[in-house]
Amino acid sequence: MIRFYNANILMPDFSIKTGEVHTDGNKISYVGDPKQTDLNFETTVNLNGNLIMPAFKNAHTHSAMTFLRSYADDLPLQQWLFEKIFPMEAKLTPEDVYTLTKLAYAEYLTSGISACFDMYFYPESVSQAAIDTGFRTIMCGSVSGSDSKADIDSALSRLEKFYNTYKNFDKHGLVSYALGFHAEYTTSRPIMEGIAALAEQYKAPVSVHNSETAAEVAGCIERYGKTPTEIFCEIGIYKYGGAGFHCVHMTDNDLNLMKDRGCYVVTNPASNAKLASGIARLSDMSQMGVNLSIGTDGPSSNNALDFFREMYLACVLQKLLKNDAAAMPAEIILKAAFDGGAMGLNNANTIEAGNLADLTVIDLNQPNMQPQNAIVKNIVYSGSKQNIILTMINGKILYKDGEFMTLDTEKLYKEANGIIRRMANDNTNIQ
Ligand SMILES: [Zn+2]
Repeated sequence: MIRFYNANILMPDFSIKTGEVHTDGNKISYVGDPKQTDLNFETTVNLNGNLIMPAFKNAHTHSAMTFLRSYADDLPLQQWLFEKIFPMEAKLTPEDVYTLTKLAYAEYLTSGISACFDMYFYPESVSQAAIDTGFRTIMCGSVSGSDSKADIDSALSRLEKFYNTYKNFDKHGLVSYALGFHAEYTTSRPIMEGIAALAEQYKAPVSVHNSETAAEVAGCIERYGKTPTEIFCEIGIYKYGGAGFHCVHMTDNDLNLMKDRGCYVVTNPASNAKLASGIARLSDMSQMGVNLSIGTDGPSSNNALDFFREMYLACVLQKLLKNDAAAMPAEIILKAAFDGGAMGLNNANTIEAGNLADLTVIDLNQPNMQPQNAIVKNIVYSGSKQNIILTMINGKILYKDGEFMTLDTEKLYKEANGIIRRMANDNTNIQ
């Protein structure tokens, strides 16, 4: 059991309560007034009036792409993806993915992130990295392919195998797997139909990149006479819910379809801005009642894994888009940042007894958090990673005062640099 005392607690209604939070195993066991207790705590943490709140949920990322951070910037998206990213990814080994995923976890912990919805390959490596670190990871299917029989068979059999291997959380409750595929423009209709059949068979949600760029939507309309969301719904991809990553170019009809199916829009404002993809209509989505969540996207397109930057951009870009400073209140974005529903994590969104102990602590004793007129506005508009002083996942403190409990970052930096040097010296796969 762990006791946090002298705390300011961010309550589910975003009021601030002074008191204590206790955890027992992987759950929150008490939230309330300071109390004399004879319970035997293994650790007690004096928060000195700092703010304890739910950790952020990174609802769309490609963690292992840390190796391509600042490798191919300032290029158009298609050239960036097909000429720079895909050839380098072809050189990755499972050991590389293990190391590079852990590098991302280190950065998530410094940003107050407790879970990620991770679309990448080598699930055995990602799963091992998550368990060894203690980081909560829901892996998302990432298959793609043409309409050749070989591609169809390979994509569907891999997806179903991975889903069945990982879907029922590991014994630590940290790692799971959701049905998903890369995108409409990289996946043939027969593969999408096969995935819809899996969704039906397992009554499972499906998550996918959706309408990230205008060109992607135009291409889909050319192929099918429909938008990606419309074709997904026609085929049955979203029958049991799921998520659309990015959702920058959505029609009102697309948003109504997402809402009707209980799907999440996962917004990635930094990546969309850097790749000039556009600004998602978050303000409209929120007013229509579409579920909203936030992701960093991968570190090669962002390039930071920093939820404060995402929240700030998610808010201020709406104001620019709508030419209205009232367009997106900070509270809606902070709620989306805590929301793990896109990855099926619904019991870690608030600090309440019985919820998973996935928490973070904000240092209020720094200049950018003072004065405390409105703490929630401070977090979204003036907050930064420097304010994160503790991150707990599944009842374990993994990061505190700049120190990592389960990661040797010096070793990780050395190994990550070694991987990219090895790739640079091996040009066999570069056309
Ligand atoms: Zn992505």
